Order: sequence, then C-alpha cells, then structure tokens
Amino acid sequence: MYRSNTSRNRPSERPPRPVATLRRRVDAIEREQLLLRNTVSGLARDRGLSIGCECSKCNRAYTLVGKTRLFCPACGYERGL
Ligand SMILES: [Zn+2]
Repeated sequence: MYRSNTSRNRPSERPPRPVATLRRRVDAIEREQLLLRNTVSGLARDRGLSIGCECSKCNRAYTLVGKTRLFCPACGYERGL
C-alpha cells in the first residue's frame, strides 16, 4: 500500500479521506468568504461606497464605487464617473 512520506502523517493515523477533507475545506472557505464579503460590504457602505466589478487592470480586487469616482484598492486604478 502506498504511504505518503510527509512529516505530517503519523503512522498511527488512518488514511485521509480526500473527499470528506476537501468538502470540509470547501465549506470552511465558503463560510470565510461569506464573512469577508459581509464585512467588506459593511465597510464600503459605512464609507459611502459600493462594491463594483472586478478590476480589469489587475484582476486582484473588486472596484469601489463612490458618487464621483471608481477605484481599485489593490492597484490604485481610478477613473471618474
Ligand atoms: Zn486593480
């Protein structure tokens, strides 16, 4: 039987169940994403901004949209509305 040679696997541990492990990881990531989305939305609203589309310049953040301008918090791209 194949045994992984990583130091994290102790000999007494049962073999990992990849699907169950991935399911738990995806659930945790989805929950964290929801919490972060709610937090960012609240911060934006508090500052009089709304969340726009994904930044087309860097694709690393959503743009933030105010009354007169749209900007990217990651790369600094900005344009008037
Ligand atoms: Zn950007």
